[in-house]
Formats: sequence, structure tokens, C-alpha cells
Amino acid sequence: MSDSDLYELPDDADLPPDHRSGFVAVLGRPNVGKSTLMNAYLGEKVAIVSPLPQTTRQRQLGILTRDDAQLVFVDTPGIHKPRTRLGEFMVETASEALSDADVILFVVDVSELPTAADRAIGEQVNAVPDIPVVLALNKADQLAPKHVQRNVDAFTQLVPRAEWMLTSATRGDNLDKLLAMVAEALPEGPRYYPPDQLTDQQLRDAAAEIVREKVLLNLHEEVPHAVAVQVEEFKERTANLTYVSATVYVEKDSQKGILIGQRGEMLKRIGAAARPDIEEMLGTKVYLELWVKVLKNWRKDDSALRRLGYSRKE
Ligand code: GDP
Ligand code: MG
Repeated sequence: MSDSDLYELPDDADLPPDHRSGFVAVLGRPNVGKSTLMNAYLGEKVAIVSPLPQTTRQRQLGILTRDDAQLVFVDTPGIHKPRTRLGEFMVETASEALSDADVILFVVDVSELPTAADRAIGEQVNAVPDIPVVLALNKADQLAPKHVQRNVDAFTQLVPRAEWMLTSATRGDNLDKLLAMVAEALPEGPRYYPPDQLTDQQLRDAAAEIVREKVLLNLHEEVPHAVAVQVEEFKERTANLTYVSATVYVEKDSQKGILIGQRGEMLKRIGAAARPDIEEMLGTKVYLELWVKVLKNWRKDDSALRRLGYSRKE
């Protein structure tokens, strides 16, 4: 992608006069279906669905361009009680996303009654009363008919001002209606991004997430959450070749050994798995270089967290 592609002004001539645009903060405790929902709207590989909780650590922008609206989704980590410095940054990131948002999309699992975490998020949402809220009562496919009234009442009472919709992100039920509600709640405004264009930062983040996903898939038990990936270089070499260099950070020497594997085989396997996904995302061939570094106890270390991009916004 060249600079002129990135910064070319979008053609707004055909947009309706009441076109809407803005930031949509996606909130919800882990495992309610946020990533599945984002994938349904934005396509695979932007938000990563994983059986491991808290895969999403950083804010991730996904831009959805429609005829009537442009929605910039901010996928937040789950709000939970922090146990490490990383946990604290994750909570701060979630709170930031909230106050920046034009609309809050609060996702819950309606097949069960609200948990303490749902209530805590509800309180955060109620603390910003000027931002419109759309409540996705997700996993409706798992909701027993005899519990519909009880559970819907319990969740809608958490945020009385919210508009709500019963959805199933996996089956696709009511996702178009939910999206229309969110778009409707946005302020009027122009397209801020060209249609079908991913931002450079978004591509970098997505590439890092793809590598991290492959590490987690290949080393499920050995290095669970001690892995962070940073894309160091992201350069278009020719129209059809992108050079991507990324560093995988781990906490211990032993983890580094496991990650690299005998004669580098594990790292090769991870690279070989990540490369085609990055190529598909970019639409070019990719030359992928992976490095492994030990950053002792990075999850507990403020300056290491900052280096890895988990820092507070200035
Ligand atoms: P997140 O932690 O909120 O991002 O949740 P995920 O999107 O990763 O989803 C967690 C799990 O719930 C995955 O196994 C999904 O397949 C599943 N899931 C998500 N949405 C639905 C839904 O509407 N119905 C059902 N039955 N399962 C869902
Ligand atoms: Mg997720």
C-alpha cells in the first residue's frame, strides 16, 4: 500500500446528507462473544476468537464502511479485577475506550443471569450517561424459553437507558438489526477513512495478533500468557512483497528455548503458519522474520509494558 493510497481523500459525493460516523466501544466480560461479533462484522483476523480468555489485550480498531454510516470499532479487553500490572493496563485501556466512544456496544451472555462482572461494566456504562448504549443480549440461541423474560429483564435493568437486541453471533441472528441500531445512535459525520481501507496501525496490530495466535496454538500449555508480539518493521518492498519483522517476547529463558525449539523448528513452524494469514490480509507476498527475546517478568514491569505498547495514552 502506498502513501497515496492511504491518504487519498474518500469520495463523499454519493453519501446521504444524514451520513453517520464515529467510535463504537465494544464492552463485555470475557467469553460473551465480542470477538465473534466483530469477526461477523469485520471479517476474520481483525479480532481473534480464542478459547483462552483475555486474548485481546490492546485496543484494536476495525472500520466498517456502509452506505449510511462508518463505524470504527474499538475492541476492548474485558474489565476484570487486575492481579498484575498488565491487568491494570488492560482495565485502564477499557476505561479510556469508554470515554472516547460515540456509542457503547455492551455485549452480554443472555443465556445466564448477570454476573458480578456484568454489573461492574453496567456501572461503568452508567457513569458516562451522555454516551448512547446498545445492549447486545448475545447467545440468545442458548437461552431457555422459560428464562427469556427473567434474563432480559435482569440485563436491561443494568443499563436502563440502553436500546437492546437479542442476538446470536455464531448463528448470525439479528446481527443486521443490532448494527442498524448502533449506526443509528452515531452522530452525523463524514467518512473519516476510505472505504475498505485498513489503517497501517491496524495492519501491524493484526499481523502481531496473527503471530501471537500461532504461538498460542502451537505452544498451548507451555507458555500460556507470557507472550507478547511486537511488529518492528512493516515495509512494502515492492507492489507484491511486504517485509514484516516481529519480536516475540517471553518472560523466561526456558520459554525462549521452547519457542525456538530444536534447531529453530518451532519458530519456523510458527512463522510458516502465520505467513499465509498475513499474506491473505495484505494481498501481497510476505517475507516474515521472527525474533524471540526474553524480557523478564514483563507483565509486572511498567517500562516493559510501555515498550510493548500497553501504555496509557498521553
Ligand atoms: P469474547 O471473549 O467476548 O471475545 O468471546 P468470543 O467471541 O471469543 O466467544 C467466546 C465463545 O462463545 C466462543 O466459543 C464462541 O464461539 C462462543 N459464542 C460467541 N457468540 C455466541 C452465540 O451467540 N451463541 C453461542 N452459542 N456461542 C457463542
Ligand atoms: Mg475476545
